[in-house]
Amino acid sequence: MKRRDFVKLSSLGTTAIILDGCKTKDSAEKKPIVYPVGMKNIKVISTWNAGLQANKVAFEVLKNKGVAIDAIEKGLNVTESDLENTSVGIGGLPDANGDVTLDACIMDHEFNCGSVSYLKNIENPISVARKVMEDTPHVMLSGKGAYDFAIQKDFEHQELLTESSKKMWKEWKLENNNVLPAINHENHDTIAMIALDEKGNLSTGCTTSGWAYKLGGRVGDSPIIGAGVYLDNQVGAACATGMGEAIIKICGSHAIVELMRNGSSPQEACKIAVQRIKNSNKDLKDLQVGFIAMNKNGEIGSYSLYSGFNYAYQDAQESKLIDSKFDLEWD
Ligand code: ASP
Repeated sequence: MKRRDFVKLSSLGTTAIILDGCKTKDSAEKKPIVYPVGMKNIKVISTWNAGLQANKVAFEVLKNKGVAIDAIEKGLNVTESDLENTSVGIGGLPDANGDVTLDACIMDHEFNCGSVSYLKNIENPISVARKVMEDTPHVMLSGKGAYDFAIQKDFEHQELLTESSKKMWKEWKLENNNVLPAINHENHDTIAMIALDEKGNLSTGCTTSGWAYKLGGRVGDSPIIGAGVYLDNQVGAACATGMGEAIIKICGSHAIVELMRNGSSPQEACKIAVQRIKNSNKDLKDLQVGFIAMNKNGEIGSYSLYSGFNYAYQDAQESKLIDSKFDLEWD
């Protein structure tokens, strides 16, 4: 018997019970969690360890029969609003000029997608991206236009540069003489997420403040459909973190979905995409990239160029951090 069992109760018709910890000592004390049968496969994955908290909120949505797109928005909002997280939303590290500029995109099971880039002073860009998707005929709004749209949709103007992010930016200016630091080695946390709901529909999204101290105006992969995220509900979904420039050049997330369409597992597809980046870049120094993917059946995979990438997994049984497979060790 596995650690937890799904027991279909005929008397409950379409209901299944997940028995918590059949083999653990405390199982007798735990009440079984009751989910409808179709919910057995509901799950969420997201990049880095901030994903653990975000997954919990996303999973609550799915557990309550919510749809994957709601799970993505609510889950990513958690990281965006976390003042301690220096790579996403409020508290995100600014660009070289000291401006916090945010990128985000979201995509559902029917190819609907929305995106914002170079968005300032709005705490939850993923929610603005969703509004772009649902309330406009466009896919992407950028800069002042994205900000004006957000204000029109009743999002609040916020100061996103926290005292601690400001201090870090000032120190960087003094110590590094404005030299761009490596992305995603020590200053990562961009969150990208994939959710599978009880109807078997996938959604995905991504939100970030991007490369810390980037040049003013720089936009990464995270708001770009096909680079930061991609999804075909008949096949699966993929999303990315790491050096956005390298991810954009191979349309990373789209490539992974196409590889899955042609028979690769999520794991193999992520590895092939990473190796495409490895083979197409002469200088691999500091070029960290990481992908996560989930196919239509809920199978998952990930791969990164360098060691150190991990992602958070949550289903009805467990919430855990998984170390990604990788090609290279840091020196
Ligand atoms: N992909 C993001 C960007 O290039 C950064 C990251 O994932 O850390 O903006």
